[in-house]
Amino acid sequence: MKIAILGGGISGVALARMLAGDGHRVTVLERAERAGGLCKSRRYGEFTFDEAGGHIVFSKERQVLDWQLARCGGEAGTVRNVRNTKIRWHDRWVPYPFENGVGHLTKEAIVDCMAGYIEAYATRKAGAPCPTNFGDWIQWRMGSGFARHFMVPYNQKIWKCDLQKMASDWVAGRVPEAPIEDIVKSAIGIDTEGYTHQSVFWFPKHGGFEAMVRGTVQDGGFDLQCGVAVTRVEKKGKGYAVNGEAFDLVVNTIPLPQIEPAIAEIPEAVRADIRALRPISLINLMIGVKLDEPLPNLSWIYLPFAEQGPTNRVTYFSNYSPHNAPAGHGSFLAEVTHRGELRPDAAWLKEVVGALGRAGILRPEQVVLSEWCNNEYAYIDQDLHFRDRIGRVRKWFDDSGYLTFGRFGRYEYHNSDQCIGRAMQVHAHIRQLAQSGDPQPLRLN
Ligand SMILES: Cc1cc2nc3c(=O)[nH]c(=O)nc-3n(C[C@H](O)[C@H](O)[C@H](O)COP(=O)(O)OP(=O)(O)OC[C@H]3O[C@@H](n4cnc5c(N)ncnc54)[C@H](O)[C@@H]3O)c2cc1C
Repeated sequence: MKIAILGGGISGVALARMLAGDGHRVTVLERAERAGGLCKSRRYGEFTFDEAGGHIVFSKERQVLDWQLARCGGEAGTVRNVRNTKIRWHDRWVPYPFENGVGHLTKEAIVDCMAGYIEAYATRKAGAPCPTNFGDWIQWRMGSGFARHFMVPYNQKIWKCDLQKMASDWVAGRVPEAPIEDIVKSAIGIDTEGYTHQSVFWFPKHGGFEAMVRGTVQDGGFDLQCGVAVTRVEKKGKGYAVNGEAFDLVVNTIPLPQIEPAIAEIPEAVRADIRALRPISLINLMIGVKLDEPLPNLSWIYLPFAEQGPTNRVTYFSNYSPHNAPAGHGSFLAEVTHRGELRPDAAWLKEVVGALGRAGILRPEQVVLSEWCNNEYAYIDQDLHFRDRIGRVRKWFDDSGYLTFGRFGRYEYHNSDQCIGRAMQVHAHIRQLAQSGDPQPLRLN
């Protein structure tokens, strides 16, 4: 078949490579000057930075992880890192996840957290139902102490909203429940570890996370057209027309609100749902520092408090690969979310760097480079109506014959490995379609 893939982020190019491998003629149309989307990296002199905050190569699915590592040049092309993540809790370094690090808090805060946790645990065991909003969910699941000392300030900082106006269902699977024994052990000073599945990760030696995209495009067997915005898509006979060119099949990976105006057949009610899908945006600060001693052995840290400035997460980026910064230097990525209103200027940058200095992460006089990059589509706004709204949108696409997937192409809170996993499922669907010639609705679990 002749297939058009709309959008050249990792979702688009991964699927293109898989389909080209089956002998289809595949064209990827990408608006930007090169492929990569949120997985792009950039250089300043000898510094390399990821554009959308710190990205790691990791997957729970062995098949996907192998695919990712192969695109990055295998073990030889990557650095294997042992994850070391912490929370900057006032003047302390608390191991992440917070429940497992509770023993590192002040005695008063440990009591607060444990009393609240035990109360919440008993309430849950007595049958209190899982709240549907995130604010109440935090109290129900973690208790009032954990809520006050980390969960509420951190989540308000990243999501920039009243947490009671956010749904709770998206957290399932993202915040695994630590066994109560582990929390009690942590409280009395015996270290326990959460999230063991992510205890090691990989990162490309050279070129930042984008190396995975380049490895996907290289010898991918498909036609990548950059600098081409998709402006018109419609059904024509048994096939489709994209910007006037005929194709047998179209797969979208472009953020839904950005592709909606281009697709002719979308009904008005579905258009209204798509327009209501708001993203949360991210300013990523790329900071280079001159070092007089190596950076601490950290992967990334969380900054929950207002006095630490607007940054919610800092990646110790030069620790991911020594080639991310020149000799004698280090680099950080500082992530600041916003809802479309933030326009950084020199004073704002200075203030953010100053706050990182006060939080004990760097010394402003070490800074040799500070640049920033805005990513309009970074996180999904999981408001209380999101699930119903996206359900209607996905159903229309799945039933209509237009295939759509990707972090914002389907509005799934997915990392790149899960996007690649989805590409594998769409690939299997198209294979079945090509063999039977019988168009079935796309069904993704
Ligand atoms: C802060 C942060 C940290 C993350 N950390 C990790 C991590 O550690 N590991 C990990 O694996 N993943 C991570 N992710 C997730 C990862 O970045 C995404 O899952 C992945 O990049 C999504 O790829 P995509 O192709 O679906 O979408 P995108 O990358 O958004 O690609 C969509 C593409 O469509 C193009 N486009 C838009 N409009 C048009 C148009 N009209 N015509 C043509 N093209 C158009 C865009 O230019 C873009 O290239 C992180 C994301 C964020 C925000």
